[in-house]
Amino acid sequence: APVVGVLALQGDVREHLIALAAADAVARPVRRPEELAEVDGLVLPGGESTTISKLAHLFGVMEPLRARVRDGMPVYGTCAGMIMLADKILDPRSGQETVGGIDMIVRRNAFGRQNESFEAAVDVAGIGGDPVEGVFIRAPWVESVGAGAEVLAEHDGHIVAVRQGNALATSFHPELTGDHRVHALFVDIVRADRAAESL
Ligand code: GLN
Repeated sequence: APVVGVLALQGDVREHLIALAAADAVARPVRRPEELAEVDGLVLPGGESTTISKLAHLFGVMEPLRARVRDGMPVYGTCAGMIMLADKILDPRSGQETVGGIDMIVRRNAFGRQNESFEAAVDVAGIGGDPVEGVFIRAPWVESVGAGAEVLAEHDGHIVAVRQGNALATSFHPELTGDHRVHALFVDIVRADRAAESL
């Protein structure tokens, strides 16, 4: 089974570990460069993106993470994790940096001002059956995507799921719902990447 890490500096790490295991991955927390080197793919959890960015520097994992993402390691970011995968943040806090990897501009807390937290049914391209239950918690949206990025879902006219190659991002939190289809989609990306590398 593919080994999928969850960046475990801050945020809802445990929920992702459970969802990944349910999607048939070997799931592990990742904090240090040595741990990052051992995974086939990585989830960037929800939480607080400025805190995660600062801790990633502190733990010495920011640069190795950027390098692996540049190399094509599969990554999936939810909410704060989506912000971490954006090439550009519209309204960064001071000291806030991203890993990058998806040619998109995100707006932090975009849904949060009207509505701290809500749920909505979201149709995600590539996921069959019922819509996904989207849990939005002070969620970002994607203002715009570049040519390389594919929009997978919108809510209320705003982009909430994007894929670029092996990088996947959602504004919402599938790890909180017990529906593991988005994690299964990601684990499929990791499996396909491993198969391509062993050719
Ligand atoms: N608003 C948070 C941030 O800017 C994200 C919230 C979340 O991950 N649920 O990082």
